[in-house]
Amino acid sequence: MTTPPAASARRVPCPHCQGPALYDASNRWRPFCSERCRIADLGAWASEKFRVPGAAPSDDDPNVPAARGEG
Ligand SMILES: [Zn+2]
Repeated sequence: MTTPPAASARRVPCPHCQGPALYDASNRWRPFCSERCRIADLGAWASEKFRVPGAAPSDDDPNVPAARGEG
């Protein structure tokens, strides 16, 4: 016996491919449409996270306040 598609099942646009993703407990990858999209999106996010701006040591004097970009 198969479970018929619930009319109350929400479908949300997949954050990665903008495809229809079932927002339901049966979809363990929600809000993504699939594992592929979830991994791809998290991977992209993680790569951004690992990129720590200004982490590299520079010869800038720490006593000098950060220059403000006026333009
Ligand atoms: Zn997707």
